Amino acid sequence: MTKSFRCRDAGLVCRAQVTGETEEEVLGQAIAHAREVHGVDLTDSRTLARHAQSLIRDDGRPAPAGAGT
Ligand SMILES: [Zn+2]
Repeated sequence: MTKSFRCRDAGLVCRAQVTGETEEEVLGQAIAHAREVHGVDLTDSRTLARHAQSLIRDDGRPAPAGAGT
């Protein structure tokens, strides 16, 4: 199973999505992406980093039907 992070989920107008095998890997890529593309260093703020981490989701696990949020 892979994990992914979508910039869009962070409220950014951005189609970028990073994926990885682990949360750490995805978070690392998300941090690099944010720094390079958005000029934001997530590591500047523990809150931002934690928020980004909370947005990482598991891929390959279809949302259960009828369990919508
Ligand atoms: Zn982005």
